Amino acid sequence: MNAEAAGWLKDNLSQITDKPITHLIYSHSHGDHASGGSVLGAETVAAQQNAPATIDGVAPTLRVVDTHELIVGSKTFELTYLGEGHGEDMLAVIVRPENVDFITDVAAPKRLPFRTLPS
Ligand SMILES: [Zn+2]
Repeated sequence: MNAEAAGWLKDNLSQITDKPITHLIYSHSHGDHASGGSVLGAETVAAQQNAPATIDGVAPTLRVVDTHELIVGSKTFELTYLGEGHGEDMLAVIVRPENVDFITDVAAPKRLPFRTLPS
């Protein structure tokens, strides 16, 4: 969201764990989802191949073309490029083994799509 919100998140995470934030996955590069990432200090920063060279000053270290499995401890993060639509660099994330899916800005009830539609 922004540096202040990222700082709040980092502070609250530090109250429940002493482990560092090691990975940051950008769902896409729009400012309302991708600002403040530098505050988190993650070593691995994942974004889709079409994302800008830097996102709010953070350079992705992992660029996903179509799909990528990111294994962190006992978790697997399945990153999948969603194609053109709301943005040019949309990633969906499925966390295994919980089978929890994170998809942002793909559907907006009672609204037209935010940006261009693929032809
Ligand atoms: Zn967006």
